[in-house]
Amino acid sequence: MAQILAPSMQCQMGSAKISIKAGPVTAKMWNSLVLNHRLSGRNSFKSASKFRAFSVKAASDNGVVNRLEDLLKLDLTPITDKIIAEYIWIGGSGTDLRSKSRTISRPVESALGLPKWNYDGSSTGQAPGEDSEVILYPQAIFKDPFRGGNNILVICDAYTPAGEPLPTNKRYRAAQIFSEKKVIDEVPWYGIEQEYTLLQPNVKWPLGWPVGGYPGPQGPYYCGTGADKAFGRDISDAHYKACLYAGINISGTNGEVMPGQWEYQVGPSVGIDAGDHVWCSRYLLERITEMAGVVLSLDPKPIEGDWNGAGCHTNFSTKSMRDEGGYAVIKKAIRNLSLRHKEHIGAYGEGNERRLTGKHETASIDTFSWGVANRGCSIRVGRETEKQGKGYLEDRRPASNMDPYVVTSLLAETAILFEPTLEVESLAAKKLQ
Ligand code: ADP
Ligand code: MN
Ligand code: MN
Ligand code: MN
Repeated sequence: MAQILAPSMQCQMGSAKISIKAGPVTAKMWNSLVLNHRLSGRNSFKSASKFRAFSVKAASDNGVVNRLEDLLKLDLTPITDKIIAEYIWIGGSGTDLRSKSRTISRPVESALGLPKWNYDGSSTGQAPGEDSEVILYPQAIFKDPFRGGNNILVICDAYTPAGEPLPTNKRYRAAQIFSEKKVIDEVPWYGIEQEYTLLQPNVKWPLGWPVGGYPGPQGPYYCGTGADKAFGRDISDAHYKACLYAGINISGTNGEVMPGQWEYQVGPSVGIDAGDHVWCSRYLLERITEMAGVVLSLDPKPIEGDWNGAGCHTNFSTKSMRDEGGYAVIKKAIRNLSLRHKEHIGAYGEGNERRLTGKHETASIDTFSWGVANRGCSIRVGRETEKQGKGYLEDRRPASNMDPYVVTSLLAETAILFEPTLEVESLAAKKLQ
């Protein structure tokens, strides 16, 4: 992790050596070293000894730090049944994640065993000051990789005291769609490819990029290795393991085309789980980047110009698409999607027009297109799906900052519930040929 911070600190402080001595940076260094140490594993003598050397230095700066670390690692299970539950919710912008903790008297198996809670909605842009109470309903639980033990993370959605979902509560409507019989019977699967960009703190410029300048052009970075090509691998890896620990259905990860940009995939997950898992994975990423002193950006086009944007490709299939004869069902879904292109674009993330330019492996925002193995289309169908005559489609339009509750439920609605008239459908079919 010290490597990750090196580029930014060199730029700000002149040299990494000096920055270790500087007061404010020491805390950040410490945090990143803690992560480094935790990740280094017991038998990695080399990095463990490096860590010790640093920790002695940090402890002499501030003797409290080592003991704090000991307390953070305390195992509560032999002492008490009580657990810590971190209640997580989406704030007023629709993408900011908020959380606070409370004690629960004993370990729980599901969100059903947890009490509702409240928060001050006037501080998150979700309620007026004079009537600020917002109620959290626990919806899904995950194991807490930060606190360990029986402690949990709780994904919640937000309601007024009268029981009305807040406008930012997109889960509520999604859960309604996913509880329609037709949708349940089709067992909708989602594989979500979350791309993100890591930024140096303060300067908000991608990790590994020279401040005030640019790295060499894109080409060597996608799935690249080496100190001049991969920036932030420890964060990606720490996040991968944290997700697996938490019980998130993460399926892989890779370095992206733009340096400092990464991707991980969540899925296939069924129905509302896809949204819960992606939101929890984003929460973990926020926490891990916080520890590393690196800023997470889900902006769809963090750097203007000849640099790839960040998307959230959503792979989607229904039972009938996965079964024999599924290719015809996929084509029908694509027809439906072509008819509702505007609605989908409107729900696929803020600022997506900066990303969907028709360049950098995207289709133009104004036109709907599909193709087999074509990364310049709105919808891509894989070669394997074409060959097998069944499988799934990839919606390449969603931006990295999309709300997975909205995107997954809208796909289900358009592909499973939406019934265009036969005339409209045949017109759309002609246009797409
Ligand atoms: P890409 O080739 O576009 O980079 P990835 O391998 O990054 O694709 O992501 C594909 C995602 O789709 C994975 O999360 C995978 O689990 C998921 N997936 C695989 N099969 C299906 C399916 N039948 N329906 C929905 N998602 C699927
Ligand atoms: Mn991918
Ligand atoms: Mn990608
Ligand atoms: Mn993809």
